[in-house]
Amino acid sequence: MLTVDDVHVSYGGVVQALRGVTLSVPNGAVVAVLGSNGAGKSTLLRAISGTLRLQSGRIDAGRIRLDDRDLPGTDPGTIVRRGVVHVPEGRRIFGRLTVEENLRAGGLANSDRAAKARARDRVHDLFPVLKERRTQRGALLSGGEQQMLAIGRALMADPKLLLLDEPSLGLAPRVIGQIGEVITEINRQGTAVLLIEQNATMALSVAEQAYVLDVGRVSLSGTAAELAGSDEVQRLYLGQD
Ligand code: ATP
Repeated sequence: MLTVDDVHVSYGGVVQALRGVTLSVPNGAVVAVLGSNGAGKSTLLRAISGTLRLQSGRIDAGRIRLDDRDLPGTDPGTIVRRGVVHVPEGRRIFGRLTVEENLRAGGLANSDRAAKARARDRVHDLFPVLKERRTQRGALLSGGEQQMLAIGRALMADPKLLLLDEPSLGLAPRVIGQIGEVITEINRQGTAVLLIEQNATMALSVAEQAYVLDVGRVSLSGTAAELAGSDEVQRLYLGQD
């Protein structure tokens, strides 16, 4: 179980991106965070994965815990070894490396060879296209395939919690549907998911619980069905899809 408790984050000591965010992801759940541009969604994932410092950001107050132990907010490697893996917005795959090399890079933190082989089989089962195209450079894949590679690379570390930052961004509706199905399957296999999305339709169709972030604060939370039925979510997010 991940708990984020009253977390405040700033960038460069001036921009207050999170102003006291509290939320939780129960073991094995899919939880969605919705919000418009600049609401602080990516910041939340960076705070959890310990990668804020790369952006001159820092946690000013609050606590992030996994299974009742603090996550060291400035040490991404330790956080990956604790089982939390972040797929950043914009995929960030290695375009000059092959699909296989990208997957291998994701498995570097996983020192158990048998576990790594199982993870690769799992990735190939979830995304047969990555097996077919394993010798091709990442840059030659379509946007949807690159998103699949980014998720597959994260799964190579055998996470118990996957942090997904806007996996639907820039993808066609049919491909967004496939990504949604794959998230459901990854979760069915036992991995919890914290899903950041602007596409509320997709996010609320795969999540059990959801939160809305608004200028660094949680403005709404509840079950996915409650949020899908709320006037605010209808007006701000569902009308636009
Ligand atoms: P988007 O979907 O547009 O990425 P978001 O909800 O993920 O939006 P964040 O990227 O977390 O929002 O940004 C939250 C706030 O922090 C915004 O005001 C943004 O301008 C600011 N911010 C984000 N990254 C930085 C940074 N590296 N330096 C300074 N300010 C930043």
